[in-house]
Amino acid sequence: MIRPILKLGAPELEKVCTPVTDFDEDLRNLVRDMFETMYAAPGVGLAAPQIGVDLRLIVMDVRGGEEEGHQIVMANPEIAYQEGRQREEEGCLSIPDFTAVVERPYLVKVSGQDIDGNRYETVGEGILARAFCHEIDHINGVLYIDRISAFRRDLIRRKIRKLMKAGEW
Ligand SMILES: [Zn+2]
Repeated sequence: MIRPILKLGAPELEKVCTPVTDFDEDLRNLVRDMFETMYAAPGVGLAAPQIGVDLRLIVMDVRGGEEEGHQIVMANPEIAYQEGRQREEEGCLSIPDFTAVVERPYLVKVSGQDIDGNRYETVGEGILARAFCHEIDHINGVLYIDRISAFRRDLIRRKIRKLMKAGEW
């Protein structure tokens, strides 16, 4: 089921989420909905709080579903190691129609749990590192605009406030 994606301004997007403890059928259904919602958007990553669910859970597919074998599900993800730097344009399904250049590590080692609760570790480079950082930020209540200059952030916030007033957000 495709779920509505919360937009900037929703309080759910600004809180630290609760760890996943129950690796059950409900979690499977939630993950299925998250992929469906992400692909429909379309996007390459989605965190549970973006659909209003208070859980440390992320899904990603940097190929956008065009190829098999790129789906990533991680519960309780943590960045265990990071290296290098990259500066690229970044967007967010919760801040539609805006982008900004964000600095991120070039490589991250991430540890967490799969959908059955098994611990695993993976390494992401380039766009995958960027996606991991972006989604892990979400479960900590952080948005990419929190990582850009105050000037750029205020500009985006001002434009969004205008859209809100016009009922277009
Ligand atoms: Zn996002």
